[in-house]
Amino acid sequence: MRRRVVAGNWKMHGSTATIERLLDALIQLRAPQVDVLLFPPIAYLSAVIERVRGSELAVGAQNIHAESSGAFTGEVAAEMVKDLGATHVLVGHSERRRWFGETDAIVAQKFSAALRAGLVPILCVGETSEQRDEGCAEQAVMMQLDAVIAAVGVTALRRAMIAYEPVWAIGTGRSATPVDAQSMHSAIRARIRALDAMVADGMPILYGGSITPANAAALFGGADVDGGLVGGASLNAEQFENICKAA
Ligand code: PEP
Repeated sequence: MRRRVVAGNWKMHGSTATIERLLDALIQLRAPQVDVLLFPPIAYLSAVIERVRGSELAVGAQNIHAESSGAFTGEVAAEMVKDLGATHVLVGHSERRRWFGETDAIVAQKFSAALRAGLVPILCVGETSEQRDEGCAEQAVMMQLDAVIAAVGVTALRRAMIAYEPVWAIGTGRSATPVDAQSMHSAIRARIRALDAMVADGMPILYGGSITPANAAALFGGADVDGGLVGGASLNAEQFENICKAA
């Protein structure tokens, strides 16, 4: 049985005061069947890790650099994130691909860096609305997945997760339908299964894109949907808790 996972991506939101309030509530969260992961802004990573220590919550980074160290002003290495006590990292989020020019090759390097440091990478893949309208959503997602598999090999995915996040669904209030989400998750799993059935069967594949408490249960109902990556709703403790419970 694959574990259920719900991850909250806080993006570039919050302050010491708002994050303290959010954590005061989240620390009480009880969802025993679900692994709950928090992805705060890097500025608060250490404080969040300390605050949740001893709880069921795990903490990850939203981004890392591909190198372990060096003259890369402003960047943060996977090893540093690990050193702070983080366990996971998002790789290839569409906002990083879009606003920071992250290509499939860069995403693959970061994925590899996460594994090298002992972090669990969550590889984000997803098509744009144009790609969906043109009927090539699956092709676009598979290209992103294949780029990482080509770089690290399929067995390395044993220590990773995938998040299917259609770009047009992120922060728009327009989620994929449960049928469309399940269909893409099943295609992703089939792609991995063609290379390694054990890796495919154990791989948590999360859905992301405008998840709310109202649509979470239906989205998580798909046989290949193992939980969610939540943006906006993860900043509200009650909404996030209800999404975790739906998983
Ligand atoms: C995200 O940032 O990964 C995301 C899914 O955002 P939202 O839930 O706000 O659509």
